[in-house]
Amino acid sequence: MSHDPNCIFCKIIAGQIPSRKVYEDDDLFVFHDIHPWAPVHFLMVPKLHIASMAQLGPEHERLMGKIMVLAPQLALAQGCNPYPDGGFRIVCNTGTEGGQEVHHLHVHVMGGPRPWLKG
Ligand code: 5GP
Ligand code: ZN
Repeated sequence: MSHDPNCIFCKIIAGQIPSRKVYEDDDLFVFHDIHPWAPVHFLMVPKLHIASMAQLGPEHERLMGKIMVLAPQLALAQGCNPYPDGGFRIVCNTGTEGGQEVHHLHVHVMGGPRPWLKG
């Protein structure tokens, strides 16, 4: 299934739920987390509904690679300080024991001056 009508992130991608968009292309939608843990905190999601990293297969290598290569560029553009004194943290919670609450794969990118609320 490419979209799940009950998925909150599918609704955000479709514009049915408002979000503060950071970036969009044919494959990805990126938006600010509604409850930021850090001065910069955005979520990178594939437009394709993939429940979590547990569902990834070889067909997703290009997509996941794209997220990882884009993350540092967006982090700087959103106000993270440059490496090595700045930087950012990437988190991808997977499954209940992994702390995942929204079951549409998403990569958290967090950064900015510390202290942070969490993380
Ligand atoms: P998880 O715990 O699944 O890794 O993270 C889900 C994240 O999605 C949380 O950090 C939460 O704040 C964020 N989130 C949940 N609902 C919404 C929403 O409606 N809008 C936005 N922008 N973020 C959301
Ligand atoms: Zn979804």
